[in-house]
Amino acid sequence: MYISSRGNFHAVTASEAIRLGMAPGGGLFVPEKVPVLDIKKIDSMSNQSYGEIAQTILELYLDDFTGEEIKEIVKKSYNQANFDHEDIAPLAKLDHQTHILELWHGPTAAFKDMALQIMPRLLTKSVEKTGSKEEVIIPVATSGDTGKAALEGFKNVSGVRIIVFYPFGGVSKVQELQMTTAEGDNVYVVAVKGNFDDCQTAVKELFADSEFNQLLASRQMVFSSANSINWGRLLPQIVYYFWGYAQLVQKGSIASGEKINIVVPTGNFGNILAAYYAYLMGLPVHKLICASNENKVLTDVINTGVYDKRREFYKTSSPSMDILISSNFERFLFEVSGHNADKVAAWYQQLNQEGYFKVDEEYRKRWQDLLIGDFASDTKTTEEIKKTFKETGYVLDTHTGVGVKVYRDYVNKTGDKTKTIIDATANPYKFNKSVLEAIGGTELAENKDEFSILKELNRISGMPIHRALKDLDTKRVVHNIVIEKDKLRQTVKDILDLS
Ligand SMILES: *Cc1c(COP(=O)(O)O)cnc(C)c1O
Repeated sequence: MYISSRGNFHAVTASEAIRLGMAPGGGLFVPEKVPVLDIKKIDSMSNQSYGEIAQTILELYLDDFTGEEIKEIVKKSYNQANFDHEDIAPLAKLDHQTHILELWHGPTAAFKDMALQIMPRLLTKSVEKTGSKEEVIIPVATSGDTGKAALEGFKNVSGVRIIVFYPFGGVSKVQELQMTTAEGDNVYVVAVKGNFDDCQTAVKELFADSEFNQLLASRQMVFSSANSINWGRLLPQIVYYFWGYAQLVQKGSIASGEKINIVVPTGNFGNILAAYYAYLMGLPVHKLICASNENKVLTDVINTGVYDKRREFYKTSSPSMDILISSNFERFLFEVSGHNADKVAAWYQQLNQEGYFKVDEEYRKRWQDLLIGDFASDTKTTEEIKKTFKETGYVLDTHTGVGVKVYRDYVNKTGDKTKTIIDATANPYKFNKSVLEAIGGTELAENKDEFSILKELNRISGMPIHRALKDLDTKRVVHNIVIEKDKLRQTVKDILDLS
């Protein structure tokens, strides 16, 4: 069963948690009890396919789904029609200690596909199970990648409409085009004059707006979420940490039971939270390394216990991590505080009203041996992308570059020799301009349009252009609404014809 991190809702089944998206009135659904796998079970994964491991993990959490239902859903999601590699998430080796888990082989070139290829299927099944007959409305806030991955995953799914809000001018050109050319008769895309936090806050307010929810109910509609506040988004992400570990065992890079480090370029704290759940489930983890860009609110809270969003917001070359309110940190605090929902509710009320909160020292100490927080500036990240390409020929995108830089700094400081997995969260072509400037020099990108940059990057890196981005220039822009940030509620009303 699933409970609210703020203790303000009754326990629900997995399908109810997924259908609702978040606890009405605020709070995130978390598993009441985290299942634990013994090392023999984890070991046996080293001979299994991605789909088989997904089956094992999902069955442990989807309490009201049958094994057959999960099997069917997994098969339709993780296959070579949707992913361009038979491993689904292949592990590449940078050096004897460092491995890159490529999470961008799905249809939109970002790691969000790992969850959003399966989540729509989990959601439709959940709706069916709860016996709900309403049309499901999904407002999505995106820093760039969730938007397209959700548009792709939910395209033409019957009984669902999806409305994506992205920060106007706050995403890469390729990201923007991917969204504004999205096809499907149930999808809407809206640019908001604000940043990701503005989009996410407005969407969360809408979920908690009882008047709006009643209005929806009167029209046989109901909200759900495709953001990582929905447990159905997070759960599929736990899978690839077990998969990555199993691959290291299978390749003989680590012995069975040997601990590894996991490095995650982080924004909303969803991806790294999935790694933390894998750790709670028994995955042998030495350090979890949370890598931020200059919007380093997480670096600070990890090191000091103070979460303070009252700070300047920077637009960086890793825009999908330009976030100051990292929603899933709430789930992490719920776990480390031993499910202290009253504390969590008080902290988040204070964050909302005063812009900060301080975690008790007693709780901070509980994560200090596991969780490392650090950040990299754009300049340092660019240098790292260049250096990695020069030394290994491997091309990092800007987000993965942040992860690699933070990891190199960590190793320099500590001398840690633990084998390490670094998440590659996007394909380099998604951030083609910054990547080309990093490995080829700024002059190569000068006066070039998006599509010449793709070709130029292809020429000097030799890396094939991701299929998702190849024919973007032939697609028609069909979404061009731009709104002020306080108009999100009204826009949803207009789109749904509720006024
Ligand atoms: C979404 C995203 C991130 C941040 O992931 P979170 O789960 O929000 O921490 C990092 N890199 C890329 C490329 C992303 O799209």
